[in-house]
Amino acid sequence: MSSNALNPSSSAASTETDVDLAPYGWDADWEAEFAPYAAQGLVPGRVVRVDRGQCDCITPAGLIRADTEYVTPHDPLRVVCTGDWAAVDPVGGDPRYVRTLLPRRTSFVRSTSSQRSEAQILAANVDHAIIAVSLAVELDLGRVERFLALAWESGATPLVVLTKADLVGDETTLGHLLADTETSAPGVQVLAVSAATGAGMDVLAASLAGGTAVLLGQSGAGKSTLANALVGADAQVVQATRDADGKGRHTTTTRNLLALPWGGVLIDTPGLRGVGLWDAEGGVARAFAEIEALAAECRFHDCAHESEPGCAVLAALDAGELPPRRLDSYRKLLRENERIAARSDARLRAEMRRDWKQRQALGRHMMERKRGPIRKP
Ligand code: GDP
Ligand code: ZN
Repeated sequence: MSSNALNPSSSAASTETDVDLAPYGWDADWEAEFAPYAAQGLVPGRVVRVDRGQCDCITPAGLIRADTEYVTPHDPLRVVCTGDWAAVDPVGGDPRYVRTLLPRRTSFVRSTSSQRSEAQILAANVDHAIIAVSLAVELDLGRVERFLALAWESGATPLVVLTKADLVGDETTLGHLLADTETSAPGVQVLAVSAATGAGMDVLAASLAGGTAVLLGQSGAGKSTLANALVGADAQVVQATRDADGKGRHTTTTRNLLALPWGGVLIDTPGLRGVGLWDAEGGVARAFAEIEALAAECRFHDCAHESEPGCAVLAALDAGELPPRRLDSYRKLLRENERIAARSDARLRAEMRRDWKQRQALGRHMMERKRGPIRKP
């Protein structure tokens, strides 16, 4: 990374250096997607931080600040977000505007409140969702499953990282903890690491080398420690970098997207901490893939796996092939998801009713203009 890339500047000061965007996740597919905008003279940039009305983007000319006025839609899921690829005005514009966002490959979303079900976009274009789970406390597999559903729902590939492995006394215990977690995470890589001793960190770094990662997990799970270990000392330097042009527009900059020294990108936004489940029905299905596979074998396609004859799920339960805890957890997450979906549907229905009334009113107005006011008898 060139030093210029670290200096945010909204002026043309940093045009001399050509920053390679590949370490920030730029690839042939993004380039193809961007081609029409390149033809218009726009430049690509990855959003590393979002402010009110503005965002910081890493572009071929370094880190710039861009105005997001043109990409501030009504839909909260389509606002600019860390990890987005943007088409930005070329050097010279003041301010420079984000003209459009490339379609997202994946996105992390959360509900903003438990009362009014509303969505908020937290991170875009994430490939790996690292679910950090502390080995310093008793394993809560239900929580792991919840994070897995959320991760799958985003489109990213989850990876469970058991942290603070140095606190586990012996290898046998560690082996059991790994095995238990694997049972709750079908088809998912599970790793034990210690930021304190460095054990497993090389494997983790290698797993992240090919894409953009986020860290999920409960407070105290070791996410910050893991982020620091992955990013290295550079992160501190970057976060303390002062505005290059000295105009004091923003004296310090916190970047929520960082290139990792061994390859890959890490997105670490405050909002990602403590995300909840949001319409993650597909995610729940992926997180409980073995139950879904069993359900496909049930005699009735709408089998509730309660007491139906020919139920493959109950058969697996009886045979001891499916832990009862897994089925309970699956049901719990599905129920929770249904509640959220029902709430958001109610809101959706209300919006649709309002739209419909507006359209009816507009239709009446158009008719009156065409034919003149309808005279009441
Ligand atoms: P976060 O809330 O998920 O960001 O968790 P932190 O990274 O702040 O870590 C929580 C606590 O766990 C801190 O006191 C860390 O020092 C400690 N911790 C983190 N990683 C390790 C580790 O690998 N080994 C040990 N023994 N402690 C750790
Ligand atoms: Zn069944």
